[in-house]
Order: sequence, then structure tokens, then C-alpha cells
Amino acid sequence: MNYTKEIPILPFKHFLTFDEVTDFVSELAAARPDLVTLTSIGTSREGRAIHLLTITDAETGKPEDKPAYLIHGNIHAPELSGTHAALYTARQLMVDHDKSDILKRVVFYIVPRINPDGAEFAVTTSGSIRSRTDRSEREANTLYQEDINGDGLILTMRQEHPDGSLVVDPKDPRLLIRRKKDSTGPFYRTLPEGFIHDWDGTDNIRVEGRSFDWNRNWSYDWRPEPEQGGAGDFPFSEPEMRAMAEFIHSHPNIFGVLGYHTGPGATLKPPSTGSDSDLDEGDVHVMDELAKIGSEHTGLPVYSVVKYHSADQRDINLRGHFHNFGYHHLGLFVFEFELGILKNSAGIKTEEILAAKKPEEEEEEMRRLMKWWDEQTERDEIYKPWTPFEHPQLGKVEIGGFLNRHLAGRTLPDLEGISKGTYQFTVEHASRHPRVIIEDVYADAVGGGVYRIKARIANRGHFPTNVSNKGRNLRRLRPVRVEFHLAPGVNLLSNKGHYHIGHIGGITDSRPLEWFVSAPSEAQKLCEIQVFGGTGGNMSVGVAK
Ligand SMILES: [Zn+2]
Repeated sequence: MNYTKEIPILPFKHFLTFDEVTDFVSELAAARPDLVTLTSIGTSREGRAIHLLTITDAETGKPEDKPAYLIHGNIHAPELSGTHAALYTARQLMVDHDKSDILKRVVFYIVPRINPDGAEFAVTTSGSIRSRTDRSEREANTLYQEDINGDGLILTMRQEHPDGSLVVDPKDPRLLIRRKKDSTGPFYRTLPEGFIHDWDGTDNIRVEGRSFDWNRNWSYDWRPEPEQGGAGDFPFSEPEMRAMAEFIHSHPNIFGVLGYHTGPGATLKPPSTGSDSDLDEGDVHVMDELAKIGSEHTGLPVYSVVKYHSADQRDINLRGHFHNFGYHHLGLFVFEFELGILKNSAGIKTEEILAAKKPEEEEEEMRRLMKWWDEQTERDEIYKPWTPFEHPQLGKVEIGGFLNRHLAGRTLPDLEGISKGTYQFTVEHASRHPRVIIEDVYADAVGGGVYRIKARIANRGHFPTNVSNKGRNLRRLRPVRVEFHLAPGVNLLSNKGHYHIGHIGGITDSRPLEWFVSAPSEAQKLCEIQVFGGTGGNMSVGVAK
């Protein structure tokens, strides 16, 4: 078939607004309707569609009959790179379709921006919130970010204060560094740009009040606040996350999951709590092997979630987190890519960023960043000079400093290379899908209108249908089932029609199937063998005389 519309180019020039994301996913679907369907998993709190791209070759079967790989990005508002990386994979799967058979066998469900409201706040204002934008329940003496000087941006306010903990860096006057005992003034305190709600006039000003972190709102091992900051009111209390839960629950064919984030560059694997010894040993081996492949393609070092912290911190335990949900609840090998921050683009390695550092060393790192930025010819505006402003509550302040939306991600040209690597990893991970098939089907006439039907059900894919050892007894990973449907006029002589196969191991595992039927002489068709393969795909084979 000829398609008149070109697959659109994904420019790595600037982070995308909601409308730009919508245009791009619509163009993808319009260019190759045989490969891409655009729908949504639901609607955000502010009424934006949570786009879902379903990508597979329609000629080789319906999406729900194929093993499925789920990708989501941008759960955290400022982590806009995740949308770009997810869209890169969506597009590249289409572009590579003529030389790869992955879309013949697998369906990809891609939610490039699971948090469209938070992302819109970040991309348009450069303000910084973790996930939820709704801050209608305001707390007293708390500053809420807002563009107060009308330049469209949310930056930093600095104000001279006798107790201020910061001074201007003599080596780079754009930076503020820590005040020491012999520092000379002026001394500054900083706050995000915004207004203080119900202020009592004291210096005791909180920032942003209650915070929601949707990567603490997944159901497995969820804990309420204050045990787990950002958890929300209950698992999947947030509509966007609930839409994701309902989508996952209604798609039992999902065998692989990947999330995109934007911390210091890393390939993250489970667990999110405890240690590797809490997981099945064989599963840890597979996860290590896959994570290594991810790291080789991207250059992003491997960390388990519990170890992804600065070197002077203890191991972290994140409750209600995606990795534990994906492994313990879904039984899948689950990964997240932390795509990197601006420091990574400036040549500062994640290992250096996470190393235990004295404050002076951190300040030196920021000087390195600025020096690198000064040398760039094509660059985003990451810094605004300090400009005096009369704040209606605080009085004389200056507004300026870094644009968080750029500090929080790599440069876009740099992100393109990383996205290529994460795409290659995704294809390798997805190529290990289970593949349940019926082979060697035949019908023998044994005389007197009786036929013996034989076949074999096998999993010729890499992963078992239970994907991981953890998944073997989980209800979500449905065991394989064979239904035997007789053609009109045909009678079953065996005492068994349907087979409950259970899970089937990868590549070399198969089970024999056998039925005896009697058929009238005029009948051509004997039966239909239908397979419901759990994560291994569904299929149907007709058997004739
Ligand atoms: Zn994140």
C-alpha cells in the first residue's frame, strides 16, 4: 500500500507543549494507519487527553492478540525528556518496520506524557512541581509558584536578609554560593517566584505545601504519608494513575514495561525497597543481563532503585513505586531510564554527580556547568540575570537565575543520541516476548467417520508465558488455555474438550494435544482450536478433514 503522508520528523529542538505533542501523535497515526492508532487512556485533572499510541502491524493480527510492551513517560512534571524519548521510539518503530519484524509479533502501547498538566506547567513556565498541578487546598504561610512579574516564567526570587545563607560567587557572579563564617555581604535568601498564601509576616515560609509524587502512587507496597512523601490519598488516587492502572489491568497481554524519567543519567532496575535478596535469584540474573544491555546501548550506568542516591545517603526505600509494582504485582522485568540532566550534557558523569561531595565541590560543579554553557554556540537560554522587583508581600527582591526546565534535562541534541540507545534496548527487550503457537496440526481418519486430531502447543518465544519466576503464580499473568470448538454436525468423543495448559516455558517447551471426533460424511471442517496465550499471544487454527 502507498501512504501519501510522510512519517513526521521528531525535532530535538525544544521541549513540546501539549498541543505540539497532540499534533505529533496525530501525524504519526495519519501517516501509517496500518501501524498506528491514536486513542487515550483517559483525561487529566485539567481535562487534557492522556494520549495512547497503539503500534503494531494490523495485517498480522489485532493488538489484543499479541504480546504487548508498555512505555510511559513524563510522570514527573519537569521530566519533559521522557516524552521525547517515548515519541522517538514510537516513530522509529514505524521507520524500521520494513527491516524488522517486531511489529508483526508485538504491540507497543506508548503513553508519551502520562502527566500532561504537570508537563504543561513545566514547559510553559519553567516552574517546578513534582507531579500534580492542582494546589487548590492551600496552606497558610506557604509560597505557591506563580509568574509574578509578567515575563511568562517562574524563576527564583533572591532577597537580602541578615540571616541569608547565600552570597554572590566571586568566581562566577551569576551563581550564588554558600555563605561561610568570614563571608562578606550582601547575604541573600532565595525562594521560588510566587506569592505567599495567608502569610503571617514572619520568616517561616514554606514552599508549595503538600506535594504529590505519582511515582509513589502505584498500588504495590503503597504507604500513606508521612511514611512515604508524595504518596497521595490511596493507591491510584490520582486520576491519571488510575487510568494507567485500569489500562494495565484490562490488557493482560502486557509482558514488558518501561518508564522514562530525567534524573542524573542511569539505567534503573528493581528493587525499589530492600535489596536484591528480596527478589527471585533467577529473575535478578535476567534483570541484570537486560539492564546491562540498556547500559551498553545508552552509556547510562546501571543502578537498582534503592542504590540511586548520593553516596553520603543510606539506601532509599520508595513505597508505591513503579519498579516494585511492575515486578511484584505484574511479574515483569521492569526498567526505568533516567535520561540525564544538564550537568550530564556538560560532561559531568552521573557517578560524579552522585559522589559524596563537600559543598565547595558542588559549587565547583556548577561553575563547570556555566563554563561549558558559555562555550556552546547553539544553546537554550538557561539563565536570566537578576532584575529588581517590588514584591507586594516581601518588598524589594530580585527575580532571575536558572530556568529549571533546562537544568532538569539534557540538551535536546544530546537527548537524541540517548533516545536512540533506549529504543535499541526496547527492541531487544521486546524481542524476548513469549510466542505461543499451535504446530503440527493434523486429522487422521481412523474409520467409521471417526477422526483423531493431533496438534502441539508450544512457546517458541524467549520468555516463558509467566515472563519471570515471580510471575508464575500471579493471577495477572494468565495461564495458557486452549478451547476446542466443534464444527456444525461434528461430535466430540474424547472426554476432554478444552485444555488448561498452565504456563509454558520459553523456546523448547511444548505440550501434545489430542481429540477424537466423529463427523458426518458431508462435513468438511472438523473444528477450530483457539489459543488464549496469556502474554504469549492468542491464535486460532481451523482443522479440516
Ligand atoms: Zn522522575
